[in-house]
Amino acid sequence: MSAISKYLRRQIDGFGREYVSYYCQGCKEAHSVTVFQPEGVKGPVWAWNRDVLRPTFSPSVLVRRGGAIDPTFVKEEGDPPNVCHTFITDGQVQFLGDCDHEFAGTTQPLLPFRLFGDQVSDGDEPV
Ligand SMILES: [Zn+2]
Repeated sequence: MSAISKYLRRQIDGFGREYVSYYCQGCKEAHSVTVFQPEGVKGPVWAWNRDVLRPTFSPSVLVRRGGAIDPTFVKEEGDPPNVCHTFITDGQVQFLGDCDHEFAGTTQPLLPFRLFGDQVSDGDEPV
């Protein structure tokens, strides 16, 4: 995973899929979207405007885990939110109302990875 701006990191996996990651202040961790995959490789692909400073991804990014996918899940202190649902447009993160974290219903700027170096560090210096 290498930094392509202070906001985004990029990775290409063994199938040739290209991922872009950004830091989510709601979940306090990075989220990744696939922005390219070779023909014949299955999975969702997001449109990306290729802007590394004011990215737009579409459609929305929906992260579901914990109790959102397993009714028997017991949430513990420090677990990430169950639902994070965002539109990222021109570098602004619109957190939709179904998020179960503090930023639900708000729009926030994308934050630079470097503010959270330890949690998402991969050895690359931020750009
Ligand atoms: Zn999130």
